[in-house]
Amino acid sequence: MKVDVMVIGAGAAGMAAALKAKEEGAEVLLVERDERTGGILNQCIHNGFGLHYFKQELTGPEYAERFQEKMEKLGIKVLTNAYVKSVGNKEVIVVTENGIEEVRVKALVYATGARERPFGNLMIPGDRPSGIFTAGVAQRLINIENRLPGKRALILGSGDIGLIMARRLTLEGMEVVGVVERLPYAGGLLRNVIQCLEDYNIPLYLSSTVVEVRGRERLEEVVVAKVDEQYRPIPGTEKIFKVDTLVLSVGLIPQVELIENLVIKNLTSKGIATSNIGQTSEDWIFSAGNCTVIFDLVDYVSYEGETAGRYAAMLAKGEIFDHRIPVKPGKNVMVVHPTWYSPVDNLTLYLRVKKPMERGRLMVGTYEKVFEDIVPSEMLRVKIPEKNITGLDEIVVSVEEVD
Ligand SMILES: Cc1cc2nc3c(=O)[nH]c(=O)nc-3n(C[C@H](O)[C@H](O)[C@H](O)COP(=O)(O)OP(=O)(O)OC[C@H]3O[C@@H](n4cnc5c(N)ncnc54)[C@H](O)[C@@H]3O)c2cc1C
Repeated sequence: MKVDVMVIGAGAAGMAAALKAKEEGAEVLLVERDERTGGILNQCIHNGFGLHYFKQELTGPEYAERFQEKMEKLGIKVLTNAYVKSVGNKEVIVVTENGIEEVRVKALVYATGARERPFGNLMIPGDRPSGIFTAGVAQRLINIENRLPGKRALILGSGDIGLIMARRLTLEGMEVVGVVERLPYAGGLLRNVIQCLEDYNIPLYLSSTVVEVRGRERLEEVVVAKVDEQYRPIPGTEKIFKVDTLVLSVGLIPQVELIENLVIKNLTSKGIATSNIGQTSEDWIFSAGNCTVIFDLVDYVSYEGETAGRYAAMLAKGEIFDHRIPVKPGKNVMVVHPTWYSPVDNLTLYLRVKKPMERGRLMVGTYEKVFEDIVPSEMLRVKIPEKNITGLDEIVVSVEEVD
């Protein structure tokens, strides 16, 4: 099979990319390993999606549905239950229900999303009983498969996903005994701390972590201790929680495996490095969504997907985009995306800072903007006017603490 643009992954990024590429006139194939399109949105049945993109608060499935309907209208070719096994030189191998398919592409948009950090990654001592779930797996069990993971749960990690899961488990009849966070402040949005924990009297244990799990077949106890400033457990502060379920919400990792030998990775996000037009270091490969950087909002993922789709289609038609100016993290910047600036389009920066600041001044070329109350877990998104970066050989992004 031959197509102009192939998109791998039909989440928010992939669907937006496929739509834009089709609107640009390209022949598009969207490939998804799941039985339906939508990606992680399908299991996020809470609201909070689409405030920027649709100027309306939607649930995940509602957000996905808007893109799905548009894809149907435009007649985009979608292959579900199809797993992309490998990507070679403009050739993609897909395992479908009918066998193995080789697809020749002019351009590719890689939009495979992220994985959850697993339990094995945390090196927590103790037993290895059942009853330990990542938040996404617990969410899928409840929201899609209609099954409860257990009766009494503790949650590790207070990002938005952990907070939302605390409320969800409670609403479904489980007892949530607390949320444990190693930072001295909650990782998620204040509105989620109030709506998901305080409204349900769920305690938040800050500057704390899980130091041991105990249980023979099924989880029986989780030991939690306070941590010092270097996140080292403080002996003598241990507290035992009798629970049968531990839900881990300790971060997402960009899913890069299929093309990581072909393209450069972003050193700060650990995702696929792209320019502001979604192009990777390999001209014909574009990428967008959580496989490039973990975005806070799906709306941003859709914008990035659209850009990657549009430029992938233009490349497939023969346009050349080979000018990339490096974008680098400077003082106090932990993560910055994109990795390069291509002057054919505007530069929208996404960044996370290294430490909480009451006031921080962002500096990019001659551009400056002061942000209030910034924390590392929250992503800043800012459009940099062209005039502030014209003529630079590299663009350094810094944040300075100000009074
Ligand atoms: C629990 C949770 C709560 C959230 N809450 C909010 C919220 O309230 N508001 C908000 O704006 N955002 C929220 N988000 C974030 C938002 O859902 C994501 O940022 C966005 O949906 C990610 O889209 P994506 O396309 O990058 O990835 P995904 O949705 O993960 O899509 C990637 C797709 O690629 C497919 N794929 C991967 N590998 C292959 C392969 N080899 N072959 C074929 N297909 C493949 C996957 O099956 C998947 O469908 C939440 C996320 C989570 C996990």
